[in-house]
Amino acid sequence: MAELEGLEFGKSDFVLLDEVTMEQFMENLRLRFEKGRIYTFIGEVVVSVNPYKQMDIYGKEVIEDYRGRELYENPPHLYAVADAAYKAMKRRAKDTCIVISGESGAGKTEASKYIMQYIAAITNPSQRAEVESVKNVLLKSNCVLEAFGNAKTNRNDNSSRFGKYMDINFNFNGDPTGGHINNYLLEKSRVVQQQEGERNFHSFYQYQMLQELLFRSDELLKSLYLQRDPAEYAYTSQGASASNNDSLCHKAVMAALKVIGFTAEEISSIYKILSTILHLGSLQFTNDGEHVIIVGEDTVKHISELTSTEAENARKTLLYRTVATGGGEVIEKGHNEKEASYGRDAFAKALYERLFAWIVGRINSVIEVKDYNPALHGKNTVIGVLDIYGFEIFDNNSFEQFCINYCNEKLQQLFIELILRQEQDEYQREGITWQHIEYFNNQIIVDLVEQPHKGIISILDEACLTAGKVTDTVCLDSMNKKLGQHPHYTSRKLCPADKTMEFNRDFRIRHYAGDVTYSVEGFLDKNKDPLFQDFKRLMYNSSDPVLKEMWPDGKMSITEVTKRPLTAATLFKNSIIALVDKLACKEPYYVRCIKPNEVKSSMLFDDGRCQHQVAYLGLLENVRVRRAGFAYRQPYARFLQRYKMTCEYTWPNHLMGSDQEAVEAIVNQHGFEDDVAYGHTKLFVRTPRTLFTLEQERSAL
Ligand code: ATP
Ligand code: MG
Repeated sequence: MAELEGLEFGKSDFVLLDEVTMEQFMENLRLRFEKGRIYTFIGEVVVSVNPYKQMDIYGKEVIEDYRGRELYENPPHLYAVADAAYKAMKRRAKDTCIVISGESGAGKTEASKYIMQYIAAITNPSQRAEVESVKNVLLKSNCVLEAFGNAKTNRNDNSSRFGKYMDINFNFNGDPTGGHINNYLLEKSRVVQQQEGERNFHSFYQYQMLQELLFRSDELLKSLYLQRDPAEYAYTSQGASASNNDSLCHKAVMAALKVIGFTAEEISSIYKILSTILHLGSLQFTNDGEHVIIVGEDTVKHISELTSTEAENARKTLLYRTVATGGGEVIEKGHNEKEASYGRDAFAKALYERLFAWIVGRINSVIEVKDYNPALHGKNTVIGVLDIYGFEIFDNNSFEQFCINYCNEKLQQLFIELILRQEQDEYQREGITWQHIEYFNNQIIVDLVEQPHKGIISILDEACLTAGKVTDTVCLDSMNKKLGQHPHYTSRKLCPADKTMEFNRDFRIRHYAGDVTYSVEGFLDKNKDPLFQDFKRLMYNSSDPVLKEMWPDGKMSITEVTKRPLTAATLFKNSIIALVDKLACKEPYYVRCIKPNEVKSSMLFDDGRCQHQVAYLGLLENVRVRRAGFAYRQPYARFLQRYKMTCEYTWPNHLMGSDQEAVEAIVNQHGFEDDVAYGHTKLFVRTPRTLFTLEQERSAL
């Protein structure tokens, strides 16, 4: 068993602070960070500070230290939480989930990988081949998802630009039998546009089809018609460039794709789609005086070849759209230059989004649990791991930040529900004397965003559904009118320098994590997320079966397309509500990640930045509730059943009036009176060590 840490490393559990104040909390957090102790408990919650350097704390021996141990037997670690979730799943047949939260660059994805590695390491001791293969696919899927869903941003060189929730299924032996990945809102606008210093998704550079071609002649690369450097493609030249790391990752991704079971044809289709997107970025439109035309017809030929479509169809789709007139007639309407460029970008984004969704679906088809027979195999239990984008406040916040921050409000609400409120409600119900802890309940902000008819999403949707030209500003006016009085909403008026007119383009939400000003520009378009039906039909008619599979909705003819698809915000809201429902029925474990500074330094602990995160993650309230509370509780009968053999008055059966009295006899015999409280139906135990002692005695008998 690992040595417990000495006091020179600070308190390993914030519950042990002398006083629960922000000063003491920060002092302990800083001390531990400086001493290389990046993890600290709050009861069963792990607080993690990104060390920004490789730590020698994830090896095989460390895994052995944590395996099957109780939480408080070892220093705080992700492995302790992973093991606790695993034990609950295995011993008590509970579905559990590990929710990892924190802002961009705080270390969520790294933590999720260590947790998965731990679970992989402690399962399947008998090395059964089918279990090993499931584990392998689960682990390898990370590498593929990161290649396609992560990008370099100004905050994190490997920032996840999608949310990920992964369920791992276990059989009665506690071995993984499969899993399922849900992905949330990929930031597809990045495909066509990146901010200064940022990059497109790694995959575009990793495929390195661009770089390597300069050095060697590769048939595959030639067949993709990619001849130049990433810097020469509009979609990969706006921000930072490729690096050596990309080629290393490329090899790992290729190997992972093969392990997962992607066929050579599928991999080739992936390449072709990525190349198609890059070629789309090079397409320009101009007007020859009469019509809009494409500059560089060769590129169109390449695109049609790569997508296995007719060149003429591809050209037409880029320049025209089919519309049904009121009289049921179908006509072709030419784009103007702006519409053509807009269509091109929307097509590129949709191609990538569908490619990503298809990859996730393809992985799921490999790992989904097949032929599970509960009668034969027992309960199919689950551990879910959530690694989802943290709260974002940028200089310019748009629709994506609005969705991401709404998601964080929902997760905070779940945290409040599960950790703060339920805990307090139970004490009240059981009649335990209890000092109520005040915390901010963010339900009011959740409602502001999602309430039917009144919330921001509803107002946006309404604007999107209104025929005619409802602009972002008109929509904002409507929001201001309906929400102007809301305590967490303010509209901000911006005046141009000449002050002749007043613009109103921003609104501000007072989120639980801080105030965020959103620029409404582009909201309606991103919410509507339109893509000309002609592109869908073009792809559906491709003779590449992989591509065709990604566009089933291209089957419909123009006259059949009447129903409006759900808007992006509503789709996202529905997926997040479903996610929260999934999490809420599981026993939750939390990892709260903190980013120590803005400059990726392993030495710097920026007090202001850290304190802000501690505040909005609600960590102090968490400590207070935990401290005032009881670590364990059990109905009297169950407690008695488990520990009656440790007391002469209760073994083999007690003769007392009630189970509660019998439990009191056990507690008194061991001298734990000060560590427990008696509720109406349950015994409450303050410190885990009490139970640990009882467990030891029980097994020594
Ligand atoms: P985002 O929301 O942008 O996806 P994130 O919270 O997932 O951010 P990570 O990608 O996990 O952040 O971490 C950012 C970087 O910090 C990593 O690429 C790595 O360099 C470093 N890092 C994070 N955790 C650790 C760790 N435990 N040990 C060493 N380095 C780490
Ligand atoms: Mg991440």
